[in-house]
Amino acid sequence: MYGDLKKYLTAELQSIEDAGLYKKERIITSSQSSEIEVGGKTVLNFCANNYLGLSNNARIIEAAKRTMDTHGFGMSSVRFICGTQDIHKRLEAAVSNYFGTEDTILYAACFDANGGVFEPLFSDEDAIISDSLNHASIIDGVRLCKAKRYRYANADMNELENCLLEAQAQRFRIIVTDGVFSMDGNVAPMDKICNLAEKYKALVMVDECHSAGVVGKTGRGVNELFNICGHIDIHTGTFGKAFGGGIGGFTTGRKEIIDLLRQRSRPYLFSNSIPPAIAGASLEVFKMLDESDAFHSSLVENVEYFRTKMLASGFDIKPTQSAICAVMLYDAKLSQEFAARMLDEGIYVTGFYYPVVPHGQARIRVQLSAAHNRTHLDKCINAFNKVRGELRVKN
Ligand SMILES: *Cc1c(COP(=O)(O)O)cnc(C)c1O
Repeated sequence: MYGDLKKYLTAELQSIEDAGLYKKERIITSSQSSEIEVGGKTVLNFCANNYLGLSNNARIIEAAKRTMDTHGFGMSSVRFICGTQDIHKRLEAAVSNYFGTEDTILYAACFDANGGVFEPLFSDEDAIISDSLNHASIIDGVRLCKAKRYRYANADMNELENCLLEAQAQRFRIIVTDGVFSMDGNVAPMDKICNLAEKYKALVMVDECHSAGVVGKTGRGVNELFNICGHIDIHTGTFGKAFGGGIGGFTTGRKEIIDLLRQRSRPYLFSNSIPPAIAGASLEVFKMLDESDAFHSSLVENVEYFRTKMLASGFDIKPTQSAICAVMLYDAKLSQEFAARMLDEGIYVTGFYYPVVPHGQARIRVQLSAAHNRTHLDKCINAFNKVRGELRVKN
């Protein structure tokens, strides 16, 4: 039987390869950090979501080891049977404290948090209004729910208002957006979204995967950046990016919402608890972030330094308030050549082109980290200048 499917899959794989879209993985032989070993070569990493530089932090590694000694390796259970330890409850409290929310529920990943948030709360009487650039996991979560779907162009408040007007017939409405969009690094206009939500009686949900730990005066996400604490009903987020980069996700927000998710959210009910080492290490992350703003402030300084120097060099960079810096090249082939040449120069960055970004919008995405120092940043900026000269790029 497999023969026919195999033929089909081989052709499918070939067409992916022919379109130049086959994803190859580079093997890292060091830990994740600002300097990594790839293919026997040491390079500077500018494409990890390691915003606060915690992926390889000694204190967090120590906390993970310590927690394995006290709480073991695995939970062998979902939360509601026998998979909840004191550290899981403490971590939920730490997340609530960090975001200024009422309660938090943990998931194995933010993909699961987004996958399990809509279906328990909304039915075919309700409306979900979603930004067109929202993460794949939000799109999948919405698909699992029977609510009527509306979509507005990225951060387009006129389109959002039209959706809200149309959705007045429904019982409940929720506006869903990423806090920071991963391709341009732009921040969702949460102040305007909250105003429209108030005007048209809608709830607001924000996915903070790229905004938490990054935006706001001390990195506490969109609540802090826009001073809208108490206006957002649901935040989802990950431990896999700024907060140590391990794995795990969460939904945090209104008490009754979180309560109901514990009763009905399928990825929570039918998937394993996060392992003790992750819970213990994540607790340490929030302790460190409460003690000091140093990680976040060095990230902000690095972003500022990099952007200023790149703009002064004449690069075309999307405006951003996040740690994502899109260096525009527009041409798909050029973006790939450019990234490959950067790697020769010891700088690991990724070139993105259609379908990940719109046609004619190819770019190199640079992700800054608190783990970068001035030497790293200067090397990266110099490499950008050198490669641009060699490839005779105009902008
Ligand atoms: C990375 C990401 C996710 C998925 O997070 P995981 O915890 O890795 O599953 C969800 N939403 C957004 C916006 C993300 O960037």
